[in-house]
Amino acid sequence: MTGCATVRCHAPGCTKLVPLAKFGCTSHWFALSRPVRDAIKRTASLPLTHRDRREAVKAAIREWHELRRINKELNALPWTTGDGDAA
Ligand SMILES: [Zn+2]
Repeated sequence: MTGCATVRCHAPGCTKLVPLAKFGCTSHWFALSRPVRDAIKRTASLPLTHRDRREAVKAAIREWHELRRINKELNALPWTTGDGDAA
């Protein structure tokens, strides 16, 4: 182990490691809506046992689940290549 503390990105199924101070990897973080990102930042110093922090984390995970569901549906469509470079 090194002194550089990392955690896994909080997004379900994501295995990227991020610095301890970060909530998710870059792509997952910016996939979240602005209000959710603000809530995560605002509650960053609170423990997960705090209601505000829990609500913020739950909102983020809900959004990630929804994005995953949408992506799955998009990938199932015949006209998408799956390259993901349309963004
Ligand atoms: Zn991620």
